[in-house]
Amino acid sequence: MKMICINCPKGCEMDVEKVGDDVRVTGHSCPRGEAYARAEVTNPTRMVTGLVRVAGMRKPLPVKTRTAVPKGSIDAVLFALHQATVQLPVKIGDVIIPDAAGTGVDVVATANM
Ligand code: SF4
Repeated sequence: MKMICINCPKGCEMDVEKVGDDVRVTGHSCPRGEAYARAEVTNPTRMVTGLVRVAGMRKPLPVKTRTAVPKGSIDAVLFALHQATVQLPVKIGDVIIPDAAGTGVDVVATANM
């Protein structure tokens, strides 16, 4: 399959082929591209960003996962964001939802409120 590396603006176009348990990657210009392609084939992950309700305010709090989560968990993480309500004050980096949706990844604040 064709895949474009998103790790830097160069955007290398890679050919990625799964052969048995092995993943063969060509077209990358550096090791980060190969690592990205292998992860996309074996365990694709994404950062999740969103908004969490703030108690007593109309303005929501922007949040993100501290690290990328498996793509298959994104809906569950978004549901956890929808269910959550945070109490102020909050600082950037504060944990808003620990172990979001059982992923082992915390959701953290990306703004001071
Ligand atoms: S393979 Fe390396 S050089 Fe190419 S886009 Fe990815 S990070 Fe950039």
